[in-house]
Amino acid sequence: MYCMNCGKELPDGAKFCSECGAQLGVLPTKADAEPEMVIRKGSCNIKKNMFYTENGHATLTNKRFIFSKHSLTKIAMTGVLSALSDDDCEFSIPLSDIADVSETRLGMGVLLTTRDGKEYKLGLWDLEAWLEDLHKYVK
Ligand SMILES: [Zn+2]
Repeated sequence: MYCMNCGKELPDGAKFCSECGAQLGVLPTKADAEPEMVIRKGSCNIKKNMFYTENGHATLTNKRFIFSKHSLTKIAMTGVLSALSDDDCEFSIPLSDIADVSETRLGMGVLLTTRDGKEYKLGLWDLEAWLEDLHKYVK
């Protein structure tokens, strides 16, 4: 961790900065400090309405669920999403915005429901593994 006043590197959990003496009361939470890591990615079909399905790629990170039209190859190299811009994503949902994860009625995909009531129907390969990870990371 670093002092928020002078920027000196300090041991984790320090209460005061040894350099400038600032009190380090408000620490960033662990989740904020964690880099964005890819948990799982794979091919994904998204059902946009009754008749229209779009093919793309799904990426689950420890922070968001992303649907993109291309393969996001640049993140495949490192597993870290820091270089990803919004233009790369068809949509990107922060995990904290997801209210519910369930299987679709036919058991062929995943239904994500956001807190503002939007629904995303996703067709995913290796559905069991996706559901397991989604349930683990979406709280
Ligand atoms: Zn300091």
